[in-house]
Amino acid sequence: MSRYAELAERFGTPLYVYDLQEVATARTELLDALPERTELYYALKANPHPDLARELRAGGRGCRAEISSSGELAAALAAGFDAADCLYTGPGKTAAEIGTAVAAGVRRFSTDSVTDVRRVAEVAAGHGVRADCLLRVNAVDAAAPTGIRMTGRPSQFGFDAEELPSILPLLRDLPGARISGLHFFPLSNASDEASLTEEFRQTLAQAAELRRELALDIELLDIGGGFAAPYGIPGGRGSYPKLRAELEAALDLSFPGWRDGAPTVAFESGRFLTACAGTLLLGVSNVKTSRGRKFVILDGGINVFGGLSGLGRLLPVAVEPADGDPVERASLVGPLCTPGDVLGREIELPALAPGDIVTVPNTGAYGPSASLLAFLGRPAPLEVVVRGSDVVSVSRIDYQRVHQ
Ligand SMILES: *Cc1c(COP(=O)(O)O)cnc(C)c1O
Repeated sequence: MSRYAELAERFGTPLYVYDLQEVATARTELLDALPERTELYYALKANPHPDLARELRAGGRGCRAEISSSGELAAALAAGFDAADCLYTGPGKTAAEIGTAVAAGVRRFSTDSVTDVRRVAEVAAGHGVRADCLLRVNAVDAAAPTGIRMTGRPSQFGFDAEELPSILPLLRDLPGARISGLHFFPLSNASDEASLTEEFRQTLAQAAELRRELALDIELLDIGGGFAAPYGIPGGRGSYPKLRAELEAALDLSFPGWRDGAPTVAFESGRFLTACAGTLLLGVSNVKTSRGRKFVILDGGINVFGGLSGLGRLLPVAVEPADGDPVERASLVGPLCTPGDVLGREIELPALAPGDIVTVPNTGAYGPSASLLAFLGRPAPLEVVVRGSDVVSVSRIDYQRVHQ
């Protein structure tokens, strides 16, 4: 019996399996592709499971945590992150959330508007502390032609770069906040190394220009990410053999003090670090034919792997046959009472029958936490964390009772 079949039999399906060895490999790969003495933030959004976050934190050159809610803060703390190593981001931080973070010891925020900085400042001052605020920048122009683009157009994220010279004076002398750097996150899941490198180059040029124009003392320069990984389809992580040298050259040019930590340069990644560590196992509940078309009905759909389906971005998943080649066309659908519960429409599939198990590869990022978990009232999928052949933990995201 295969390892996955064994786990499916032991724990049932739908079942996520995450392998910590693969998480560790991804971290090493990414750190090796980045210049030394730079920092890497793990965006818990990709997978907030504390065991995965802990794996990314631990070890010699571990990740810091990029968080965006009280829940992610709790997950980061559960994973052993020091609150001082967390960067709190997001365009809609409430005073209550900021208060929770400051009380826990978070001192570094990425801010997206004047209101946001003032709110952080006020809450921090209320706690008798001063918070470091990075200004998130919505740059004027954008380079890479592909991937998920976040800047260069009207956005809830960041300050419009052209407005910063007039806005910055409003933010300089707030008692509870210190403007201590810049944050860029222009791109997610870049298509290739060349476009990623070009994006970083442009970001660095813009950052240098802003520093000059604003006479800003930048302690931390977070230039984002865009490191790629497959999502529910076969394949491997992006490969960046030249990136490090190119980044070093670009940094030497724009920020000659970076090797001595002036500024400290940081990167961010979610999917690269966890995507390939995850495999989703689903059971086939039924196979039916309707007007000549075949439907394979699984015991999990967009409720367990709904990643961004609401955004119309769901890519058809691939399932790996237990043996043999694809033999028929069919739609792969979930059990929910909505025609939208489709994981793949008219795709090539192995011959499947009720009781079979299918595996969806590369589902370690944007899995359960990005799914329509509560829709139709099915339990969240079990998540099994393994290290090689050892089972480390078994858990599921659950409701928390907040009132008696
Ligand atoms: C979502 C997000 C990330 C992670 O993106 P990936 O594509 O998963 O690497 C990093 N930083 C910020 C600010 C984000 O919003």
